[in-house]
Amino acid sequence: QNAIEIRGLRKTYAASKGAPDKEALKGVDLDIPQGSVFGLLGPNGAGKSTLINILAGLVVKTAGQVTIWGFDQDVNPRQSRASIGVMPQELNLDPFFTPRGALEVQAGLYGVPKSQRHSDEILRLVGLEDKAEAYARTLSGGMRRRLLLAKALVHTPHVLVLDEPTAGVDIELRQMLWENVRRLNREGMTVILTTHYLEEAEEMCDEIAIINQGDLVARDSTVNLLSRL
Ligand code: ADP
Ligand code: ADP
Repeated sequence: QNAIEIRGLRKTYAASKGAPDKEALKGVDLDIPQGSVFGLLGPNGAGKSTLINILAGLVVKTAGQVTIWGFDQDVNPRQSRASIGVMPQELNLDPFFTPRGALEVQAGLYGVPKSQRHSDEILRLVGLEDKAEAYARTLSGGMRRRLLLAKALVHTPHVLVLDEPTAGVDIELRQMLWENVRRLNREGMTVILTTHYLEEAEEMCDEIAIINQGDLVARDSTVNLLSRL
């Protein structure tokens, strides 16, 4: 069973400010199996964030088909969105929300019933229990990342996506992230992460896809891929 199925995915950003049209994805086919930790590896500008943001429903694709947990994004947009949680790269948070407040709002957006909300547990798992009532504008970059992970988990998605989770992150936070990824994956969550560090993909991922200039150039188990490099 595949958690994600991508067929012929294309994204062209329209020209703006003198820059020409940009083909960020040139027809990507990719299956991501259920239960894996899957790495999307590639240099800056390869198209990783574009792909992630299309999965998240934040960027509109130009062409192709995306199926998340069996739900075609175009046919069943609500179910497909409910199946995935994304920890974005940007640290954008409403400055006047506290972590607890932001999680409540997020739970509301996803229609999580009050009885099934577990903000305290999530805040503890990401190490934010002491900051639950602090305004986001007072949170450090590391704390914001913790909150972004917490937000991605509020609706207990089947698939968790982390976009460059460790870029510019200290050791403690990196450990927190990896511990959570391993635990969630053990509990059955499919995890997809993007990185431009091969060592990181090697350490964390069962399978890796390499993307370059909008094309998928390789895809294999981590063991096989490394033996070919
Ligand atoms: P990666 O995440 O691998 O660094 P991106 O998906 O961010 O790659 O970018 C892929 C290409 O698309 C890059 O050339 C980038 O400059 C371009 N791009 C990304 N977002 C936009 C946008 N909003 N408008 C125009 N071009 C964009
Ligand atoms: P982003 O656009 O990256 O989600 P925002 O600053 O818009 O960042 O929002 C941060 C969080 O605060 C959102 O996830 C949302 O749950 C919550 N939020 C934003 N605006 C409002 C609002 N007007 N009322 C209630 N909650 C909001």
